[in-house]
Amino acid sequence: MLKKRLILLGAPGVGKGTQAKRLKKEFQWAHISTGDMLREAVKDKTSLGMKAKSFMEKGDLVPDDLIIQLVGERLNRNDCQPGFMLDGFPRTVIQAEKLDELLESINEKIDDVVSIEVENKIIINRLSKRLVCDQCGKVADPDRALQADGSCPYCEGNLIRRKDDEPETVKRRLEVYENRTRSLIQYYQGRGLLRKVDGLGNLDEVYQRICVALETA
Ligand code: AMP
Repeated sequence: MLKKRLILLGAPGVGKGTQAKRLKKEFQWAHISTGDMLREAVKDKTSLGMKAKSFMEKGDLVPDDLIIQLVGERLNRNDCQPGFMLDGFPRTVIQAEKLDELLESINEKIDDVVSIEVENKIIINRLSKRLVCDQCGKVADPDRALQADGSCPYCEGNLIRRKDDEPETVKRRLEVYENRTRSLIQYYQGRGLLRKVDGLGNLDEVYQRICVALETA
């Protein structure tokens, strides 16, 4: 089995989570989404969730130390053995540096960093239409018709718009990406790990491009 340890980079709404789910199905790499883990913590009202909530609602980043601890614990789980994909982490240079230290301490390393690229105006349009399930957290497939009663096709929960997908918050999240996260492209380019992928098109088209970039096609 092909082991890969990946970072999925890209602004909110470029399709990192969707592609990670597809890659997991194919290669069994663990999907580590810090956004999903934080939303779960908020829903469960854990102490991490209570600390993270207000940052997330504003579209700001949760403090680095909280996130680094979360990822550190997660990377120790057994399901990371076949490989893993970090989705939404790192988002700052400090997080990237701490990740290097974390991986070194467990004798792991990053093989590839996939940067999915989509123009901001398309992201804004996509996120304005994105619906997620309030129960299972899955994103409704935009290419598939909704259930007649508007419920989730997977678990029949309610499909809602994420609070941070409101237009003002999306604007803020894109600014935060530009100011805090975009510089990671240079960070990983300098190490020869960066693979840029055009994120425009349907799920299959983008998936194929990722496989070509990772030489798994
Ligand atoms: P996402 O689903 O990846 O867009 O994440 C949703 C929100 O969770 C972000 O807007 C941040 O508030 C928070 N978040 C997720 N990952 C991180 C991270 N690596 N560093 C700081 N905040 C994060």
